[in-house]
Amino acid sequence: MKDYTQDTLCVQAGWHPATGESRIPSICQSTTFFYGDSRAMADCFDLKSEGYFYSRLANPTVAAFEGKVAALDGGAAAVACASGMSALTMAALTVAGAGDNILCSQSVYGGTFNLFGTTLPKLGIECRFFDPDDSAEHISALADEHTKFIFAETIANPSMVVLDFAKIAAVAKEHGLLFIADNTLATPVLCRPREFGADITIYSTSKYLEGHAAALGGMIVDEGTFTFKGNARYPSFNTPDESYHGLVYADLNVPFATKCRAQLIRDAGAIMAPMNAYLSFLGCDTLALRMARHSENAKKIAAYLAAHPKVAWVKHPSLPDNKYRALAEKYLPKGQGGMLSFGINGGIEKCRAFMESLELITQETHVADVRSSVLHPASTTHRQLSEHELEMAGVPANLIRLSVGIEDADDIVADLENALKRV
Ligand SMILES: *Cc1c(COP(=O)(O)O)cnc(C)c1O
Repeated sequence: MKDYTQDTLCVQAGWHPATGESRIPSICQSTTFFYGDSRAMADCFDLKSEGYFYSRLANPTVAAFEGKVAALDGGAAAVACASGMSALTMAALTVAGAGDNILCSQSVYGGTFNLFGTTLPKLGIECRFFDPDDSAEHISALADEHTKFIFAETIANPSMVVLDFAKIAAVAKEHGLLFIADNTLATPVLCRPREFGADITIYSTSKYLEGHAAALGGMIVDEGTFTFKGNARYPSFNTPDESYHGLVYADLNVPFATKCRAQLIRDAGAIMAPMNAYLSFLGCDTLALRMARHSENAKKIAAYLAAHPKVAWVKHPSLPDNKYRALAEKYLPKGQGGMLSFGINGGIEKCRAFMESLELITQETHVADVRSSVLHPASTTHRQLSEHELEMAGVPANLIRLSVGIEDADDIVADLENALKRV
């Protein structure tokens, strides 16, 4: 289905029923699958033939959602996980192990910062952070023969840095290094990382893809672009996997997705539940419509806030004076999504007064669903940090993260207007 546009793929990809089958995927709520013939089952185990045998490895409802996201991304295969965090963990462990290192933008989601900066080092994987605004030469100098991938977010959460794909892809190419992009806040509707050099794309489907704050999920898309065969950096892809009857992953069609599922998902069990896959599949039907509306609403609201005397600054790539405007025009021409951050003149108390006066927009530890929501990191997710530490983390005390929903933009503006009056 690769020739259709995103609008069509959102609705049509991933599920093609045979005569008499359900029009949308049904929830296949079963751990296991029946086989009358032990040889047929053995062939599945050996990856010689395709078939479902245990839902820790594959399940028809989950496969439908995987197929839809792979098609939207233009990728070769996708592996669904229990959450965005488990997708990141599984992707990292598919290529990296003790003694290896990874390169990661320092402007990433807090959970990713913890996973790569604190948890993976406990397993012997060193994380080398770089400033996404650094030069290619500077970033390139961090890589050595033990580096396994380079990682960054298309639109960083919550710093709103837009990724310079060409720069990171050049570093990856120079070293024959895998480039992994987290495309959660852009979605495949606004940006396809594959077209700009990413080899693996990660999604927290808990955000825009599912879209309704109903189900957690993660997705790893193997774009089918990376050549592991003969690349000395990746011995685990070029030598037999003894835990899989001597399979050499580099010889397969989609080495990364296959190794990830056959080895990591098998061993860690971080799979997506059929019910969550079903909800996420349905949510994705309207992704293209929703992303257009989120982007349009956020653009209006960013402009409104930027002109407000009580607002110190606003970050959204749609604003003409935004630092990342040129990158947004290059990589996100269809829209820049619904996330924005802004600062209120004055300190934490002013922010609290503002937050408490909102009526329509609710306070939530979630972003990127249909309803507008706000979070004040300094008094919630980052409350243990001092003002100085907040500045260092790029989260000033007056920062408010606003996830603009698909309500009427005028209603959202009226709510903001009313709350700003009380500050
Ligand atoms: C939310 C988020 C994650 C983590 O996803 P979960 O589904 O909450 O585990 C990872 N990356 C980005 C960019 C996110 O916004």
